[in-house]
Amino acid sequence: MESACYIQSHPYAGNLQGADIYRTSTLSSPAAPRTPKPDMTRAPQQPTCKIITDPCTGRTYSKGRLLGKGGFARCYEMTEISTNKIYAVKVIPHSRVAKPHQREKIVNEIELHRDLSHKHVVKFSHYFEDAENIYIFLEICSRKSLAHIWKARHTLLEPEVRYYLKQIISGLKYLHLKGILHRDLKLGNFFINENMELKVGDFGLAARLEPLEQRKKTICGTPNYLAPEVLYRQGHGPESDVWSLGCVMYTLLCGTPPFETSDLKETYRCIKQVKFTLPACLSSAARHLIVGILKRSPSERLTLDQILEHEFFTKGYTPDKLPPSSCVMVPDLHPPNPARSLFTKVAKSLFGKNKSKAKKAPSEEKEEISKLVTGLVKTSICRQLSYKTVDGNEVAPVAGLALTASSSPVEALTEEASGKSVSRSIRGSLVGSSDAFEDCVTASGVMETALDVLKNCLSSMPKEEGKPTCLARHEPFVWVSKWVDYSNKYGFGYQLSNRSIGVLFNNGTHMVLPANHRNVHYNLTNSRHFVFPTSAVPEQLQGQMSILQYFASYMEKNLMKGGDLPCQEEGTKPLLLLLQWVKTEHALLMLFNNGTLQVNFYNDHTKLILCKPQDSYLLTYINRDRNSQTFLLSSLAETGCSADMLHRLKYAVKLLQQKAAC
Ligand code: ADP
Repeated sequence: MESACYIQSHPYAGNLQGADIYRTSTLSSPAAPRTPKPDMTRAPQQPTCKIITDPCTGRTYSKGRLLGKGGFARCYEMTEISTNKIYAVKVIPHSRVAKPHQREKIVNEIELHRDLSHKHVVKFSHYFEDAENIYIFLEICSRKSLAHIWKARHTLLEPEVRYYLKQIISGLKYLHLKGILHRDLKLGNFFINENMELKVGDFGLAARLEPLEQRKKTICGTPNYLAPEVLYRQGHGPESDVWSLGCVMYTLLCGTPPFETSDLKETYRCIKQVKFTLPACLSSAARHLIVGILKRSPSERLTLDQILEHEFFTKGYTPDKLPPSSCVMVPDLHPPNPARSLFTKVAKSLFGKNKSKAKKAPSEEKEEISKLVTGLVKTSICRQLSYKTVDGNEVAPVAGLALTASSSPVEALTEEASGKSVSRSIRGSLVGSSDAFEDCVTASGVMETALDVLKNCLSSMPKEEGKPTCLARHEPFVWVSKWVDYSNKYGFGYQLSNRSIGVLFNNGTHMVLPANHRNVHYNLTNSRHFVFPTSAVPEQLQGQMSILQYFASYMEKNLMKGGDLPCQEEGTKPLLLLLQWVKTEHALLMLFNNGTLQVNFYNDHTKLILCKPQDSYLLTYINRDRNSQTFLLSSLAETGCSADMLHRLKYAVKLLQQKAAC
């Protein structure tokens, strides 16, 4: 039996923290004062000031920021001066619609759009022309469109997709009832207002629904989302809008359109043959629904009502509202948590209060080391695990190997991790597995060794400050370049300098995605190691896989790399696993299965890394300026080191001593 040491999380443990949390945009001037919380979901304000007057009514509008550009139009925020009402105004220069067919498009758009009134259709207000432009006044959707959300997020969670699709379907049902086909349903035409409500917009390609034989046979729409019958020039019907809706659903869930290829002809061929793949990450309900929508024959395609009745909608959770932060980050949707949400934490870490923590007075550092450490280890410690290095264990694929509930502890652990009951057996294409670890490396073992080594070094050091010579070249080693503590819910995520991503889950299981993303390594406590192709992760592990992917994308987007040490490519080295992490008020300590110890100090981002890539121990110090120096530990013992480094070494030793005594 492993010795499980699970210390109750201190409130701090829940703080989402990356030691190096900065928006990349602030990197060039880290010392710059923080501006009042910017709303990342909006375009920056543009200093423009122009008054537009409606020549017929005399009403005046002040032109504000540019909202976006379209085929013919530039869209600006405009405020009616007498009422302060804000509109999105499409400004179309006459010069851009000089040709009859171009003008016809605008007239058609206005004609079809002006009478529409529905909660999920962009409201057309009015329009006028002056000598230069045509102005179309629309309900403003300040949070841009699903295209912008997709750009920031790449994939959305199923509940989010349900949330948006329900609104699209509601708007689309209304349009179809009014006898209008949209004919260009795509992410960029689903606008999002201040309250995160979706509105179908851009009626530039819309048309009245005609009887089959009278339908125009023109090919219009966005190439990726064109229905087969449109490509076959059989005309566009309501079912063709449904097809596009299926493509939208697929894109939001999978990250790319179903028929996207690098070549348009090939895309059209795939559409005509309905050739697309369903990634393993999709739920079975989502797959089933997509297949029901993307039917080659329009008559076989599900109708909008049938889509709403599908189990994807009826059995899955749909939030009533999404937080605006979900435009750029994965929302915290389940289970409902009245405590501070991830997003509050992220926002605070990025823009708010938490940063003040990072600017502690230097005098604080000069406090007695023992005083600093004593009583401060109040943050979480993950269950102590023991793993064996899994080196070269990958074996030939064993396709379709099934691990049944009774034979595998995976299920129980996943169940524990997700808090859900998992009744199905795990089925996955195992690339490899290993068990019956012999010489297990334990966190306490690593801790004891590191403590001995550092204590010896400190005790041999001369009393006075020293100037050790750093190594010009040394054996490469792997270290943590980014981390995120989300242990109040899921676990601790980290990115290594070899670009692999790992998560040590609260239940003690561990998942690692190496830099090449080919396989996923899943490690069970003290016992077994599984390797799955990334495309065939068993259903029960999908939740953990999503969390890992979330951590990866969060760290990629929001965290700055921890120093100037070279990032190493993944080699044939054994898989590096985080065994344990400990947070104090001042530092984060991490222990790895190869004996590496890393201590990150929050307030000035300095770091100590003790490792033994070959025969000798190396100690790396990454200073405030993020420059790193690597020393032979033996030379430090002889010559001593800077006061800064010494202070941190002593802190690390005290911390290790305290933990070892636990
Ligand atoms: P076009 O018909 O010329 O392609 P669009 O309707 O696509 O023009 O509008 C161009 C851009 O203007 C859009 O991509 C979007 O960024 C912005 N936009 C359009 N309508 C609105 C709206 N109602 N609220 C906010 N922004 C809008």
